[in-house]
Amino acid sequence: MDAQVVLKNVTKRFTTKTLGDIVAVDNFNLEVYEGECFSFLGPSGCGKSTTLRMIAGFEDLTEGEIHLCGNPVSVKNKNLYVPPEERGLGMVFQAFAVWPHMTVFENVAFPLRIQKLNRADVEKRVKEALRHTSLQGLEDVYPSDLSGGQQQRIALARAIVTNPKVMLLDEPLSNLDPKLRESMRFELKELQRKFNFTIIFVTHDQSEAMALSDRMMVCDMGRIMQIDTPENLYNKPINRFVHSFLGESTFLNVVIKDGKVYAKGDMENPLDLDIPANAEEEMILATRPNAIELTGNKGYKTFIKKRIFLTDRTEYLVQIGDQTMKVQTPHRVTFAQGESCCVNFIDPMWYPVEDKAAEEERRRRQLV
Ligand code: ATP
Repeated sequence: MDAQVVLKNVTKRFTTKTLGDIVAVDNFNLEVYEGECFSFLGPSGCGKSTTLRMIAGFEDLTEGEIHLCGNPVSVKNKNLYVPPEERGLGMVFQAFAVWPHMTVFENVAFPLRIQKLNRADVEKRVKEALRHTSLQGLEDVYPSDLSGGQQQRIALARAIVTNPKVMLLDEPLSNLDPKLRESMRFELKELQRKFNFTIIFVTHDQSEAMALSDRMMVCDMGRIMQIDTPENLYNKPINRFVHSFLGESTFLNVVIKDGKVYAKGDMENPLDLDIPANAEEEMILATRPNAIELTGNKGYKTFIKKRIFLTDRTEYLVQIGDQTMKVQTPHRVTFAQGESCCVNFIDPMWYPVEDKAAEEERRRRQLV
């Protein structure tokens, strides 16, 4: 498979008035392949939009290089910079909403007019783009007379009309209600299947990213944490940050002593767990609330601190050492509040204790 978007050692620094120097993107190395749907995911301020803007050509790099479809488009140390309109990308950015003073036809025709295509070709290409986005017949209508979903489709039609190989989407579905969002996701995938373009997608919404992406990149404070398939990111998160970012997590501080694992606060009753290869004296055990088994008599003995009935499952808070963990079970597993029970962990992940430097940087950036 050919890499269509390549980032090599890309760094972007900003000097801000209040927070001093911020490394918005710290030495990113990334390859996105032909036909792939790849999303950037992470909390606010992690560098998603800055990365997308550098690929689009709206933002210069501090260091590094970017290649699109085998051609260099930004190479800092050679002072090479190809402007956005010459990068051959399709874009749906929040900031580039449809233009209210132009008809649907003119909105979609705009990129072709910039390319100075002749009238007949413009007509043909716009008609085709409108057909693929189910907007045919609405050529002469103004966007304000259309629904949010139709307006979003105009933006998509405008992005596909130039037949780009790579499409950059920045929160393209964020203004839509949940139902419409879901059908637009489907339409987007359909368009991708038809035209076989590569998608880079920025979103806050992890379930949207999971549903659309072949691979995802999770970042935090300008650093890539992990690049992988949605399944691997969920099942094998590389660190505590990724674990807690995707899906629900529950953590336990443990102490490893004399070949046994103890929950902090209870050095009397070991947990029934094999010690990992990279064991340190203190570690964090990470799991999902539904990957903890509650039984009557096998495992770590404790009691139910709280029981909450949810529609599709029951949630319990159980005491383990000096900590409280969340457990979710199907309704058929029933324990009463205060009842004694036993806890077993199913395939937990093991992580080192807090990264102090990251915590300090988070405070400096006022992200806590
Ligand atoms: P969000 O999800 O909130 O859009 P993001 O992950 O897209 O966040 P970026 O917008 O890429 O994050 O910002 C990354 C960091 O760079 C932030 O700390 C932000 O404050 C900083 N930053 C971005 N643009 C500028 C700028 N033009 N000047 C100064 N700092 C900036």
